[in-house]
Amino acid sequence: MAEYKYPALLHDRAKLVSNVKKLSDKCGEQGIQIAGIIKATNGTVAAAEDFVAGGAKLIGSSRLEQLKRAKDAGIKVPLLLIRVPMLSEIDEMVDIADISLNSEPLVLEAINKAALDKGITHKVILMADLGDLREGFFNLDELVETAAKVENEMPGLVLAGIGTNLGCYGSVIPTEDKMVALAKLAERVEAEIGRELEYVSGGATTSLLGVYHGYMPDKINMLRLGAGPLIGPLEDVRLCYNLEAMDELECPFVLKAEVIELKVKASYPQGELGVDAAGKKREYVDRGMRMRALLAIGRADYGDIDDLVPEMEGTTVIGASGDHTIVDVEDVKDTVKIGDIMTFRLKYSALLNLAESENVKKYEI
Ligand SMILES: *Cc1c(COP(=O)(O)O)cnc(C)c1O
Repeated sequence: MAEYKYPALLHDRAKLVSNVKKLSDKCGEQGIQIAGIIKATNGTVAAAEDFVAGGAKLIGSSRLEQLKRAKDAGIKVPLLLIRVPMLSEIDEMVDIADISLNSEPLVLEAINKAALDKGITHKVILMADLGDLREGFFNLDELVETAAKVENEMPGLVLAGIGTNLGCYGSVIPTEDKMVALAKLAERVEAEIGRELEYVSGGATTSLLGVYHGYMPDKINMLRLGAGPLIGPLEDVRLCYNLEAMDELECPFVLKAEVIELKVKASYPQGELGVDAAGKKREYVDRGMRMRALLAIGRADYGDIDDLVPEMEGTTVIGASGDHTIVDVEDVKDTVKIGDIMTFRLKYSALLNLAESENVKKYEI
């Protein structure tokens, strides 16, 4: 086994490729291509390569730096900026991204001008806000009007499609009626401009619901997938949406952290209680004396203990401060030693945070 430095974030490349392949095959059966969204890995080139190897037809990120890295590394598929561009990044954006998601006529005009100045064209996908209330046209008539304007009056732009995003801010489920609404809107835009759209982008990982349950309208032909392939069977999404089908996926990223203290301690703090390291009032449960492992990793690295899932049965993460994590190991106390490495599966936010933490070593295996 390789010698690692800890804490370590391990990226198992074969598992990511396999996840992407399963999802792109499944979506492909329904005429849906995948854009691989790499932002949760801090946009590593390895993740972009794995997505492409697994069958992703585009690579996307919210951050231009990450797309630039993919481009510089020779990723050949179209690069998609999935956060509505800042006016201040448009000049750079048209050089790096092939396509961007958009919702502001003013921004579209600026992209049009930047593309014309450079003698190029840039593809845009107009976003419809179908109720999740983050980005996108909330007034769908305005989206259709803007689409016509892009098509007829902005020669630096190519109207590549429309899309939507659900399940982000508003927790709105991509139910069949939402997907049908998007498909109908695509037909409206197509009637307006007199041709077919290249992309109708039905959302992110949560929109796999429509694929697994077989209700995706034919019109929808692209999903932007990050969490599904990167995290694997997401407990929360799986339970909420009844997606046992996701169990066929594996868990490509794990955290490994080292045990630095192993002691039997009281489980209820002793003394007068104020606030914890984060300045929060906490509740503690008195479970008597328990064996606890202290790990050299903390909230500064991963965020919230709820986003770590210990691999070792019988252990529970009970708390953390910025640089320490406390794990109850009472039920497995005979098998844990100082210097042992504990492995955790990660929920989305933990992966995002760990990938960006300088303190965490990264290994691709
Ligand atoms: C992050 C993001 C995605 C990917 O979402 P996942 O839930 O990780 O699949 C897709 N589209 C947009 C606009 C995003 O911001």
